[in-house]
Amino acid sequence: MIPITLSWFVFVYLAVFLAAIFILWIGYEIIRHRRSNAIARNRVFCRICGSRYTDISPAELLHCPSCGSLNERSLREGI
Ligand SMILES: [Zn+2]
Repeated sequence: MIPITLSWFVFVYLAVFLAAIFILWIGYEIIRHRRSNAIARNRVFCRICGSRYTDISPAELLHCPSCGSLNERSLREGI
């Protein structure tokens, strides 16, 4: 058995606990960031008529359902 004092046991316990929370936090943030980028990519803002619509096709140029003009995808809406 490894001899360990109570203070070292508490320190190791807290370090492992906090490291696990930190790793889970980073993982959830990465997943949340990827999902928000995917959702923002599907939203398209028409620069001609100003309508907003959703398109899940992989094409870069999309036809607006209101006015029929071609729109380019952008991650930032309205720019
Ligand atoms: Zn339009």
